[in-house]
Order: sequence, then C-alpha cells, then structure tokens
Amino acid sequence: MKKPSRLRKSKTASGVHRAAVRRAQPAGKQQAARQTRRLARAQPAENAPSLERVGAASITTEVPFAVRRIFAIALIAVALVLIGALTAQNWAGFVEWASALARTQQATAAPSGITANPAQVARSDIRIGIVSGHRGSDSGAVCADGLTEAQVNFDHAMRVASLLRAQGYTVDVLEEFDPRLEGYTANVLVSIHADSCTYINDLATGFKVARVLDSRLPEVEDRLVACLKSRYQQATGLRFHANTVTYDMTQYHAFYEIASTTPAAIIETGFLYLDRIILTRKPERVAEGIVNGILCFLNQETP
Ligand SMILES: [Zn+2]
Repeated sequence: MKKPSRLRKSKTASGVHRAAVRRAQPAGKQQAARQTRRLARAQPAENAPSLERVGAASITTEVPFAVRRIFAIALIAVALVLIGALTAQNWAGFVEWASALARTQQATAAPSGITANPAQVARSDIRIGIVSGHRGSDSGAVCADGLTEAQVNFDHAMRVASLLRAQGYTVDVLEEFDPRLEGYTANVLVSIHADSCTYINDLATGFKVARVLDSRLPEVEDRLVACLKSRYQQATGLRFHANTVTYDMTQYHAFYEIASTTPAAIIETGFLYLDRIILTRKPERVAEGIVNGILCFLNQETP
C-alpha cells in the first residue's frame, strides 16, 4: 500500500520537478547566454578571432574621426585659397600679387651682413639679371684697332656674374635681345654697356647710370641708380656723366620687355676712347663697382 502510494507520490513529485525544470530551463539558458555575452565583452582577446575583432573595433571608431579631421583641414585650405583668389579677383592676378609680395619682402630684407633672422631669403633664391650689352646682336662701339664694345661688355658681364655667383646668388647673363627678357622676373636687372670709342673732346670721360624714364617703380629704381652711381665711382674713380644720359638709355628696349616688377638700370661703364685703360686693363674694378652697386641695392644699404 505504501509502495503504490509512494510511487504515486514520487511520480507526482517527479512530475512537479520536471515541470519546474521545464519552466526554469529557458530562463536558465537565457541567463547562461547573457553571462557568455558579458564574458565575451569583458575578455575580447580570449575570443577567436581576436585580431579581427580588435581591427573591426578600430575601424568603426578611429578611422571616421581621422577622415573627418583630414576633411576639415582640406576644407579650411580650400576656403583660404578661394578667399585669396577672390581678393585678387582672378587666379593670375593672385599669383602675380603673391610673387610681387615675395619680391617686396626680399627687397626690404635686412642687410646680409647682419643676418639675425633665420626666415631671411637664401641668396640662391635671389635672382640677378645681367645684360651683356650688344652680345648676340651687334658690335656696339668699335675702336680703330678693332676692339668692340660688345667684347668689353661681355668681359665685364662675366666678371660681375662670377663674383655674384661666388657669393651664392643666382645670376642670368643675358644677350642684348635675349628671348628670356620677355616678362623677365628677377630681384634686379642691370644692363652693361660702354660709350663711344671715337675722340669727342677731353670731357668725354666717365660713366652714366639710368633707369627707364617712365618707371613703374620710381623710388626703387632711383635707389638702384644711386647705389650703382656711388659704388661704381668708389671702385673706379671715374666721374659721373650726369648731363649726357641719353634717350637711348632711358628708353632702353629691355626696360619695356621685362616684368614691370623687376627693378632695372643701365650702366655705361665709361668711354672706350678716354677710359679704355680702366675698362680693359682694370676690368676687376669695373666689375667690383657694379657688384657693390647691386649689393647696396639688394641689402638696403645707404647709397
Ligand atoms: Zn652700347
């Protein structure tokens, strides 16, 4: 009697237990799943494939930020360029304005002897144009013995160029009608000529310096002329022929070919007849005078 009752009771009890287990099982499975997910989050490195998980995490968080930053920088740069272009009304105008500004800053740089500013322009970035008068075109003045002005000018031009290059400057030696003169841009341009080799009178001695008559940079070019005058006089001892600066000098063709922003002057180093000795036997003094005149101008020295 006990047995069946126990059995029944036990059957009933086990039935109740199974029902409880059936009810508890889904909840337990969910709890187990939650625990697994928590563990997975807490220890991602222990889960395979861990590297891919780390990579995926950095792709979704870091890359978009970097892209946003690059994009923001690019936007600012584009905006600045657009503002600059609009200010100067057109791109070509903007470029010309920017290069003119750079040249102005170079021209107003401190004297090279007292270089304390590391931002100062390197000498190799300073371009100097030297026109070797009549070269590639004609002889210029001719002496009785066949000596030509073009020969004398070329000797002077090459000496000037090598002295300036030795100091680190960039120098172009140009021919009289050099194609490079068209729109030529430089910190300074000096054309070297010499005067007549026929006897005029005893006053036909000395040198001349001039800039273009209707200069677009009158103050700058007047300073270049003043520098060349004083330094050339110091080096050669020749007198300045103020009254014989000719139309040919102030209307000199190269002045109208080069960029209007390039300061330029022409020098007549002396008369081939009366000043022949200094021009041909002391050419180093001629070159020194021209070089010192150019450096006086570039370095903002007092003429
Ligand atoms: Zn000449």
